[in-house]
Amino acid sequence: MRADVLIVGGGGGAYPAAFALAEAGRHVVMVDPKGVLGGNCLFEGCIPSKTVREMGHLLVRAQRLLGSTTRADFGAIQAHRDHVQEMRFEMHRKELLDHPNVTFFPGTARLRGNGRATVRMEDGEREVEADSTILATGTEAVRPPIPGQELCWTSDDLFRYRTPIRELPEDVVIVGGGYIALEIACILRSLGSRVRLLVRSHVLLRGADPDLVALLQHSLPGLDILWNSTLARVDRDGGSLVVRGLRGTKPYEERTDACLLAVGRTPVLPDGARETGLSVDPRGFVVTDEFLRTNIPGVYATGDVNGRAPYFHAAVRESLAAAHNILAGHRPVDPVNFAAIPVTIFTDPPMAWVGLTRTQAHQRSVEVTEASYPFSTDPKAQMYRETDGEIRLFFDRGSRRLRGGWVLGIQAPELINEIGLAVSAGLTARELAEFPDQHPTSHEGISKAARQIV
Ligand SMILES: Cc1cc2nc3c(=O)[nH]c(=O)nc-3n(C[C@H](O)[C@H](O)[C@H](O)COP(=O)(O)OP(=O)(O)OC[C@H]3O[C@@H](n4cnc5c(N)ncnc54)[C@H](O)[C@@H]3O)c2cc1C
Repeated sequence: MRADVLIVGGGGGAYPAAFALAEAGRHVVMVDPKGVLGGNCLFEGCIPSKTVREMGHLLVRAQRLLGSTTRADFGAIQAHRDHVQEMRFEMHRKELLDHPNVTFFPGTARLRGNGRATVRMEDGEREVEADSTILATGTEAVRPPIPGQELCWTSDDLFRYRTPIRELPEDVVIVGGGYIALEIACILRSLGSRVRLLVRSHVLLRGADPDLVALLQHSLPGLDILWNSTLARVDRDGGSLVVRGLRGTKPYEERTDACLLAVGRTPVLPDGARETGLSVDPRGFVVTDEFLRTNIPGVYATGDVNGRAPYFHAAVRESLAAAHNILAGHRPVDPVNFAAIPVTIFTDPPMAWVGLTRTQAHQRSVEVTEASYPFSTDPKAQMYRETDGEIRLFFDRGSRRLRGGWVLGIQAPELINEIGLAVSAGLTARELAEFPDQHPTSHEGISKAARQIV
């Protein structure tokens, strides 16, 4: 089959480009063995994890504010999660029907170079030849090669569509100090599990501003973090698992009902990709510029597989940028501004940031003026008794333009959008201060903080 564009993958890095290209009259072949659109985010990532998180959040709020004694019905929560996923699979099926220019193959693509690929499906193979290619094959969870790793879960096992895990473990050990480990720790804790987090070093969330992480750590009481703990093996002992390793130099042993590994994700490349001469970095991520171009003319790499910003909304933006650059005849017309992609860690409380924050500004010798708003004074936070945390904005000292911000606490995932938009648009403190953010929403804190310095 001949196509204008071959898109390998069916997730957030893939389908926005497919639909944009199809709407511009291009014929697109898109391939994904899942047989549905949505990729990791919908099948076992953002949507299912956040569905379960929202349920846990409801429960904790009802317990705290209304004296509810309701316990989590994990089976019902997992069924609801399946249902949410089904609704979205169905929505994507309709989108495909609305775009007859997109041919979707439920299969796996092997690259053969020069725009050619073989797609292997249940009912046989198809050859595809295209002028342009977008690689959007994502990442997969790492399983460390230790004895007993097969006894452990990963986030995929917990959240995968129709997962057999329907019972909440009373006690769980989570291995990892990154965002997936922390999010799952908070989710399972909110549902009633006893959670221990096993962290190899003494640092959480590498890559985030350490000052923000320190604030988060202060707001995470009750999370049992076992620092400096390496994992050596996991064994079954009757109905329990025994997790063993070294804490510092001393052996430790943790007995638990379940062990979840969240020790990182590694890029997935289609077979044949390396043989085409595709340039990858030492960790295997595809090297791209801000136009999503790889070193091979006509080949783009979007989403997690390029390792630049492993979040769904970043994948979508990159996907659209790649489509625009293809439509412009491969002229670099649409760059992605990687400096203004908001990030949320859905812990409890959640934390989010965008742009330049304190430590980065310091490292780059950018002089910033800070303005903050504590949630202890926020009406919404008071209503929910969630008054921990703050909004903090970082303005360029000279121009007073907003360079970045962070939020720890109530509505951080929502608040960071307004801050991110202001960073992208280069708004000044005065412009933010003059905007009448609605009352009573925590967004008021953004204009209130800006008013401190005008
Ligand atoms: C537990 C968890 C929670 C998350 N929560 C959030 C969140 O709250 N917010 C957020 O923004 N991000 C979140 N993420 C990250 C988000 O899921 C990813 O950033 C996003 O899915 C990346 O999209 P993608 O298209 O690059 O890759 P993917 O969604 O991984 O899609 C890649 C697709 O390529 C397919 N594929 C692979 N190889 C081939 C091949 N050879 N041929 C054809 N198809 C192939 C795969 O089947 C897969 O469907 C979470 C991730 C996890 C694991």
